[in-house]
Amino acid sequence: MLPIYSDKDIKNFLRRMYRFWENNPEKVKFKNMRDTHGLCWFIVENDEEHGEMVYTDVIELSPKGELIPTIIHEHIHHFYPFLSETNVIKVEKYVMKHMSARQIKSIMKKFGETVCY
Ligand SMILES: [Zn+2]
Repeated sequence: MLPIYSDKDIKNFLRRMYRFWENNPEKVKFKNMRDTHGLCWFIVENDEEHGEMVYTDVIELSPKGELIPTIIHEHIHHFYPFLSETNVIKVEKYVMKHMSARQIKSIMKKFGETVCY
């Protein structure tokens, strides 16, 4: 079963994404890339103070790529790190097909206000 398969799931996904942007504006950035529209990097770091490995990730988006589908795609990787690329693409297509114009507008607005300022 894919993690997003209803309008309610899309709503929750967008809400999570906006919260992530507000709390981690430095983790989503524009970068010119030749071969791809976006990347979600996973970095594993050794937290010496607590003696454990912590993982973090950074999302890079090409300013000249297909921005909205790429934002959705990379955040699916971020929220569901164990989902295969094939299933990430399936979820991305589902979200793109079912989002309302108003939801797309709100992504553009929040993106401009929080991460891409
Ligand atoms: Zn991917």
